[in-house]
Parts: sequence; structure tokens; C-alpha cells
Amino acid sequence: MAEEKLKKEETLAMRRRLIGQSCRLFYSDDPVKIVRGRGQYLFDENGKRYLDCISNVQHVGHCHSAVNKAAAAQMEMLNINARFLHDNIVLYADRLAATLPEKLSVFYFVNSGSEANDLALRLAQQYTQNQDVIVLEHAYHGHLTSLIDISPYKFQKLAGQKEWVHVAPLPDTYRGIYREDHPNPGQAYADTVKGLIEEIHRKGRKISAFFAESLPSVGGQIIFPQGYSAKVAEYVRSAGGVFVADEVQTGFGRVGSHFWAFQLQGEDFCPDIVTMGKPMGNGHPLACVATTMDIAGAFTANGVEYFNTFGGNPVSCAIGMAVLDVIEEEDLRGNARRVGLHLKDLLTKLKERHEIIGDVRGAGLFVGLELVTDRERTPATKTAAWVVKRLKKDDRICVSTDGPWENVLKFKPPMCFSTEDAELVVQCIDRILSDMKASDLRLENEDI
Ligand code: PMP
Repeated sequence: MAEEKLKKEETLAMRRRLIGQSCRLFYSDDPVKIVRGRGQYLFDENGKRYLDCISNVQHVGHCHSAVNKAAAAQMEMLNINARFLHDNIVLYADRLAATLPEKLSVFYFVNSGSEANDLALRLAQQYTQNQDVIVLEHAYHGHLTSLIDISPYKFQKLAGQKEWVHVAPLPDTYRGIYREDHPNPGQAYADTVKGLIEEIHRKGRKISAFFAESLPSVGGQIIFPQGYSAKVAEYVRSAGGVFVADEVQTGFGRVGSHFWAFQLQGEDFCPDIVTMGKPMGNGHPLACVATTMDIAGAFTANGVEYFNTFGGNPVSCAIGMAVLDVIEEEDLRGNARRVGLHLKDLLTKLKERHEIIGDVRGAGLFVGLELVTDRERTPATKTAAWVVKRLKKDDRICVSTDGPWENVLKFKPPMCFSTEDAELVVQCIDRILSDMKASDLRLENEDI
């Protein structure tokens, strides 16, 4: 068992005293202290095991030994900034290039999803010489000042919307303005972006980029309707802008059928810039921007060096390559496809028995379960919080919520998540919802 340096109450007291209170803990009324991780499991200070359905960062599994070994071997040899010529950065870029469409052939390595998106913004603005950005409702693209500005999820609670930022409707066919009964929601939602571009032009402004996650996660595990991205890209490019796909949460085979979630939109669609992060280093801070020769060329032409002290160092790149190796060797994409489908099937069956389940959606191991109180699809926010709480307390299963009303249970586990794990989670959710029904527990009007 891992050594515990402090008693849990001491850790908590020190955390409250020393760490900014805006850095929140999961389960704030009774946080879990985790001392060890393996695969899809976490272990607390008493050696109790938790099933982790949340950690999409530890993509190939917590503390994977192949990743650890690659890191240790390179640390032992050399770590240095990318101004020195080294094999790892080029070998890793070449491996990433092989996963992407040919036109995305130039790479910049950074240390977080936020750094990647900030650089994407600079690239887009430099290339197009325009400033304005279109984003989706409730989007989140990172914690830097520049990204708070393009993240409605954050700026709506803070200083508000900048005049150069424009918000398009979330293409959500369950809850949005065009739903599953619409004959062509992809086209209809893309037309809202077209309308927004026309409005921007009427104001005498021009767009640099359309920025969106390939599957909006904070937005509530949303799957774009078919045809949406290609149409939006067409409208955005004809207005002089570029399409930025934020794959920080969704890349590296999470969707199972493809390596990148933007590929779910078909072969006729390719973004101009792709940002990646979270799963890339399995927990090591490693992120990246991939773009075209033309966009990279315009960025070089401004004559200003791009230097990032830690970005692309030999240790980070060795770790990144080891992650790619494990994805291939353990067929984690295949696992995500198989287990994700099974999880979705089981949840869909559960929906037939529990009215509170409004929608089940997902791709691979990116799955959302939306809870609603009635046919009008009123969000069952408190019930979702209750289910999360019970899963942790009764079953030691970590799940969390997302979406504008926090009523979507999200599943983004490490990619080694098994069929048995999926079955266990669904059984437990079934039991919790059945218990609620049996005891006539109606949470939506109560404090919990
Ligand atoms: N983009 C998306 C879609 C994200 O979910 C996040 C992090 N939650 C970021 C960007 C920012 O990444 P980081 O926290 O690594 O800066």
C-alpha cells in the first residue's frame, strides 16, 4: 500500500488553509483521498478501490508501466528544451502526423490544453488578419485570459462577452433549437453559423476562427448531427476564417471508431487547426497544436520566435510516443468501441425502465446519460447530483456531471475500462434509480 504522509483530516485542513478555494475538490462535502492508481482503478488511504469513470487524462490507464518506463529512461538520459536538436520531437511529430489527414502536417508542442488553444487563437488571427471568433454555447476552451474570453461557460459568470466573440447555438439534437425530429439538423445548425457570420459582417467585423470541441463535453456530451462540421467549415472559410477543432478531451481514439472525434463527421471534413492535450501524456503535461503549412507559414512570417520552455522536451515526447504505443499494442481504440457500445446499449435498456433517463448518447468511451423530470425535458439536476453521490458512497464508483444544467452523467474513463466495469456501473445506477422510485424520493424540489 502507498505510504500516507498525513492523516486525511490533516490533508484536508492544510488544503483549506494553503490552496486557493476556487480550486475545488470532487465530492467537496466528503472528498476522497487517493494514494494510488492502476488501470481504471483508484485506491484510497485505506486501500479501498474505486472505479474511475472520469479520468480521461489517464488515457491508457493510471500509472501504466510502459509509460513510466519510457519517462524514467529518458529522464535518466537527458531533458532539455527544444532549441537543441533532438530525435524525440521529430519522431513524435511524425507519429502524430500519421494519425491525421495529410494537410495537418506542422506541429507545435506545448504543456496544456489551454496553451494549445491560446496558440491556435494566435495562429488563426495571424493567418487571417482578422480578430473575431465564433464559439458554441456553453463551450469551454481553457483557463487563460484569452480563452476565458472565448468560453461562454466561464465568461457568462465573469466579465461578460467581448465584442469580438460571437456565440452560436449548440448543435444539440436532444435539447437544442433543432431536435431529432428535424429532417436535417446538421444543415439547420450550420445555417445558424452562416447567419451569425452575416451579422458579424453587418457590424463591419471579420472572423478569424470558428472554435469548437469535436464533441462538446462541458456542453453535455453532445454529438454533432451529420454534415454540421463540413458545412460550417465551408461558411467559415468563405468568410476568410479557419476551423479550429478542440480535441483536448476527445482525441487519441476515445471515440473508438476513429482516432480523432472530428473524423466522425466524415471524410469530406478536415479542420484547419487541431488542438490536443489531456490524454496525450497520460497525466504528464503534454499538449500540441497541429496545423497546415500555410497557417504555420503565416505565423513564421511575422518574424517572432515561438519558444516554449517545456514544450516538446525529450521526456514529454518519449512519454507521448509510449502512449501511442500502448494505444496500438493494447488495441485501446477497439476496446473503446466495444465497451463503449456495450455501455450505451445497457444504458439505453435502462432508459426503457426509468422515465427519468431522457437521453443516452455517445461515441466510444465518451458517453452521456441525460436525466430529466418530465416530457418537456426539464433537467433533473438534483437527481444527477444524488446519483453521483450514491455511486461514490455506496459503490465506490466515480462519475461526474456536465451540461449547462449539470444533469448529464458523463463517462470518460481510462480506455482500459472493461465490459465488467460497464455492467457494474449500469447495475448500480439501476439500483439507485429503483430505490428512489420505491421510496418515492423526489429530489427536484428539495435540498439535498
Ligand atoms: N479544451 C477543452 C475542451 C477542455 O476540456 C480543457 C480542460 N478541461 C481545456 C481545453 C484546457 O485544458 P488544460 O486544463 O489542460 O489547460
